[in-house]
Amino acid sequence: MAEKSKKKPQDSWSQMSTSDIKASEKFNAGYIDFLNRVKTEREAVAYISEAAGSQGFKELDQVKNFQPGDKLMIKFKSKAAALVVIGQEPLDKGVNMVVSHIDSPRLDLKPHPAYEADGMAMFKTHYYGGIKKYQWLAIPLALHGVVAKKDGRIIDICIGEKESDPVFTIADLLPHLAKDQMEKKMAEAVSGESLNALLGSRPLNTKDDEAIKARLMNILEEQYDIEEDDFTSAELQFVPAFAAREVGLDRSMIAAYGQDDRVSAYASLRAILELEKPKRTALCLFVDKEEIGSSGNTGLQSLLIENVFAQLMHMAGRNDYFSLRQALANSAAISADVNAAVDPNYPEVFEKMNCSFLSRGVVLTKYTGSRGKYDSNDANPEFMARIRKIFDDAGVVWQVGELGKVDIGGGGTVAQYIARYGMEVVDCGVALLGMHSPFEVASKADTYMSYKGYLAFLQNFI
Ligand code: MN
Ligand code: MN
Repeated sequence: MAEKSKKKPQDSWSQMSTSDIKASEKFNAGYIDFLNRVKTEREAVAYISEAAGSQGFKELDQVKNFQPGDKLMIKFKSKAAALVVIGQEPLDKGVNMVVSHIDSPRLDLKPHPAYEADGMAMFKTHYYGGIKKYQWLAIPLALHGVVAKKDGRIIDICIGEKESDPVFTIADLLPHLAKDQMEKKMAEAVSGESLNALLGSRPLNTKDDEAIKARLMNILEEQYDIEEDDFTSAELQFVPAFAAREVGLDRSMIAAYGQDDRVSAYASLRAILELEKPKRTALCLFVDKEEIGSSGNTGLQSLLIENVFAQLMHMAGRNDYFSLRQALANSAAISADVNAAVDPNYPEVFEKMNCSFLSRGVVLTKYTGSRGKYDSNDANPEFMARIRKIFDDAGVVWQVGELGKVDIGGGGTVAQYIARYGMEVVDCGVALLGMHSPFEVASKADTYMSYKGYLAFLQNFI
């Protein structure tokens, strides 16, 4: 093919056919609905499992064997999941894998959260992931999560999402009294220990010491069967209470909480739900704990990937250690995660020849990392070339992207924990504005192109 003309439009929209644009609108309506239903990793797993179940995916431990075309799902502690479509080739030839994460930055409740001060009851929080703390002040918050009771029951909590629900909030200091605060460095102006959310203000009985807290504990017991001690075995998260919205007069963008990285989770989910009898086995992994370093038994630093492969190989009757290592090493993966879009309000942190832009397609990120590619998987060029070909052949609009200027900062993804098995892996996902904020912005054209890209990879990589 001849060299691409320099006049070729760079944006996704101009390169999309009418049917692409129509399909994109439908895809994004589903995506907005997903964002509004799913604000925690557990809610993501529930959504994925329901969607996959309705498309014929069966829980792996409920089948005895499988054959090409079979659709399987595995759940890990209700906080991570895997969907598999068995291919025609044997597993030790390798699988095609798309890995996204379903946890997002938020404010977790501490194990002893409730206290009373100055006529108000409050909940103490401990933030999860990399946040700019001031962004969590003066916005409506919803409380999501579970409380595990000593008798084994799990109580689901979701307060603040329905129109009729109350919400929570962390009040910000009024500017009139913020002279000292305003002179502080941004990183120090709001302390982690000041991120305490408003819980109530009405006493139960004015004679009691902690009468406001007492009323709230009564409410928790009556409405949810939760006692104060139960917070010790709970996983409760404050997340923004507002809904996903279309942005711009042209409605070309979506703003919502948690698009890092549920945009990739949703796009890869939609892709694998469409797969029928692929050549190589297709695997979508939806993992937890990426935002705090992929630790824990639902994060990718655990042996989760290895265990999935071992279980599949065992069921295929291939129990030898070497075949398992071969299946892993011969696999290929997309680490599906977001990148930073160039922000016209902060051009100074971007190097525009190598950073990604909103609405210019899904981003292929060869390496991430910081301080000279530290903690990065630096994808092999041979592998990237094959991905470029697959994307171009499938009409996927894509761009390259580094996270920002070399010395400014950086970030990492799960790619490095996938690469350790010897398999090829590259980062590929949507560019966001305001990543890690309560209201991240994505382009509808890009979200759709990420879905097209993941589908093309799962279907066509051999
Ligand atoms: Mn991410
Ligand atoms: Mn992140």
